[in-house]
Amino acid sequence: MSQKLVVGNWKMFGSRAMAAELLQLLRDANLPSVVCPPYPYLLMAADLLAGSAVKVGAQDLEYRDEGAYTGEVSGPMLRDVGCSHVIVGHSERRALYGENDALVVEKVRAALRHGLTPVVCVGEHLEQRQRGLAKRVVLDQLNAVINGIGAESFARVLVAYEPVWAIGSGVAATLDDVAEMHVAMRAALRDANCDGVALLYGGSVKPDNAGQLLSLHAVDGVLVGGASLVADSFLRICSAAK
Ligand code: PEP
Repeated sequence: MSQKLVVGNWKMFGSRAMAAELLQLLRDANLPSVVCPPYPYLLMAADLLAGSAVKVGAQDLEYRDEGAYTGEVSGPMLRDVGCSHVIVGHSERRALYGENDALVVEKVRAALRHGLTPVVCVGEHLEQRQRGLAKRVVLDQLNAVINGIGAESFARVLVAYEPVWAIGSGVAATLDDVAEMHVAMRAALRDANCDGVALLYGGSVKPDNAGQLLSLHAVDGVLVGGASLVADSFLRICSAAK
């Protein structure tokens, strides 16, 4: 099996001491992955991980490059501190901060403009799945970005399918549900002439289910939240991705 991708989203957790310890352990293990700490720890992460197999990503970005936008962090700033990746359109951003597809498109455009690889998150809510709308919701979110930036640019994007009900719940989607959604997304990508794009799965990925999820042919990697905050858990998931 070829190397699959593992991206860790720390969300708004951690401290300077915790970040330094965890990053040091990741650097020592040197397993290919991407870690996305909160903004204040990005510079430390990039410095500590420089030259290792572990890359650094941010959890969000502002789409404008600079200006009077209090509290925001731009693509050029993320590049300046050593980021290579950025998560865009995480369901928590969509649900808690009102991010819609149009804003996600702007952010993906900004990330690409500044040489950052966007990890674009898509996923349905439980109620949408129960009403049989899961595929339509996910494909609409995916197509909004493909149509917004064009197939050629989309080739530089990573996509993470994250069913909202599986995030932080401790209950991952079943292998069948993940495979079915990934096959549907792959078909949509093929129709749009961007077949080479990697498709990750996210939602309660832990060391004990990572192996099975990563063994699915349709899954090119995983986006890990809670388990990325514990070195042993994250490293076991990274090992499973080999
Ligand atoms: C996430 O934050 O993207 C995520 C998948 O979280 P968790 O792994 O904790 O479900």
